[in-house]
Amino acid sequence: MKNLSVPSALNDQQQVYGTLPLKLSVPQTKAVEIIRQVGTLSRTELADSIGCSRSQITSVVGSLIELGILHEIGDGKSSGGRRPRVLSFNADFGYVVGVDLGATSLDIALANFEGRVIDRQYVVVDVRDGPDMVLGIICKLVLEQIERHHIPLDKICAFGIGVPGPVEFSTGLLIAPPIMPGWEAYPISDFIHKTFPGALIIVDNDVNVMALGELRAGAGTHERNFLFIKVGTGIGCGIVCNGAIYRGADGCAGDIGHICVDQNGPTCHCGNIGCLEAMAAGPAIAARAILAVRDQKSAILARHLEAQNGILTAEDVSMAGSQGDPVANEIIRESGRMIGEVLASLVNFFNPSLILIGGGVSRIGPQFLASIRRGVLHRSLALSTRYLRIDTSPMGSDAGIVGAIMLALDHIFTYEGQALPPFLKSSVGQSTHPWKTSG
Ligand SMILES: [Zn+2]
Repeated sequence: MKNLSVPSALNDQQQVYGTLPLKLSVPQTKAVEIIRQVGTLSRTELADSIGCSRSQITSVVGSLIELGILHEIGDGKSSGGRRPRVLSFNADFGYVVGVDLGATSLDIALANFEGRVIDRQYVVVDVRDGPDMVLGIICKLVLEQIERHHIPLDKICAFGIGVPGPVEFSTGLLIAPPIMPGWEAYPISDFIHKTFPGALIIVDNDVNVMALGELRAGAGTHERNFLFIKVGTGIGCGIVCNGAIYRGADGCAGDIGHICVDQNGPTCHCGNIGCLEAMAAGPAIAARAILAVRDQKSAILARHLEAQNGILTAEDVSMAGSQGDPVANEIIRESGRMIGEVLASLVNFFNPSLILIGGGVSRIGPQFLASIRRGVLHRSLALSTRYLRIDTSPMGSDAGIVGAIMLALDHIFTYEGQALPPFLKSSVGQSTHPWKTSG
C-alpha cells in the first residue's frame, strides 16, 4: 500500500527495527499476544502456552528480544533450581500518534506501544485552513509532546489519522471531501514525513476510526458485527464485519448520509435531493427550529434564537427540548425517526448485533435514541432485531482518539502477509479503559 511505504532515509533507530511494517512469524505473534495478555511469563511457561518446544522458544524469544519487542525483567518463581528470568512486553518499543481531526477541532494523543495515552491535547483548528496549516500544527504538537516526555523523534513508529471526509484507504488520500477544501488528493504522508521520516502514516475516515475505537476498547469489544453511526454536521456509518472494519472496494462503505429519505426534500450539498444528512443531521435540526420560530410555534426556541444573535444550533434545540418545549422535542423525534428508518434497511441487509449512535448530535435528548429505536423496530424483520441492541456510544469523544491510536498500532506489524496483526486485535482493549492517560 502506498501510504505504508517507508522512505529510504531511515535513521539509526529504524534500522534497529528493520523496515516498518515489521513482519512477524506465527510463533512470534503468538508469543507477543500471550505476553501482552498475561503480563509476564518465563520461557518454559511461554513454550507450554503456545505449544512449541524449548529449543524453538529460545529462538523465538531471542529474536523478539533482539527486535526490542520483549525484554527480560526480574526473576520468576523457582520450581526447584535456579529462578528463571521472566519476559515482559516492552511498552517503550516505540510510540504512536493518534489524531482525530474534526471540522473545527483537533484531538491529538501520544501513546506507548501498549496503546496507553501518555499525552493528549485538544486544540481548535479550522480544517478549511487547508492541509499545510493543519498538518503543520499536528507536527508541531507532536514535537512538543515528545520533548515533554523525553522521547527521541525516531521512536515515533506510526500516525493513525481520522479525517472528516471520504478516504481512499489504499492510498490514504481524501477524495472529493465536501467540508475540506484544499485536501483533495493531498499527500498527507509526504508532509508528515518531512518531520517524521520513518513513521508509517495511516489515514482513514473519522467514522471508521470511531468504530475501531469502540471495537477495541468500548462497547464493541465482544461484538463481531456492529454499526457505528455518527450524527453531527453530517451522518456516516462505520461497519464492523467479522471483527474488522469493513471499508468496501474503495473505502467509502457506510456513507449512509446520502441515502434518499424524501424525494421532495431539500437539496443536499452533494447535489441530490432529500438525502438523510440534509434531512436529519445537526444543520437540518437547526434549520427546522428556525422555521418553527418564524412560524411563531415556539417561544422557548425564539428566546434561544434571540440569545444567540439569530443563530440556532442542534445544541439549542436540545436545551429547548430539555426545558420541555414540545416543538423542539418533535424536531428531535422527527430526526431520530428518519435515521431509524434508514437503519431499519441496514439492519435487514447486514443483521448487526449492535448499533452505536455517536457524534455531537447523539446526546441531543432521550427522545432521539427512543425514536431511532422505534424506527428500526417498526421496519426491520423480527429475526434481525431479536437480539439487536441500539445504544449511545459509551466512549463518546474518546472513540475517535482511541481508534486512531489502534489504527496506528495495527500497521506496525504484519502477520504472515496480513495487514492486521491478530495479537493486537485480541489483546489491546481487553483491559479496562486502556485509553485513560497514565501518570
Ligand atoms: Zn447528499
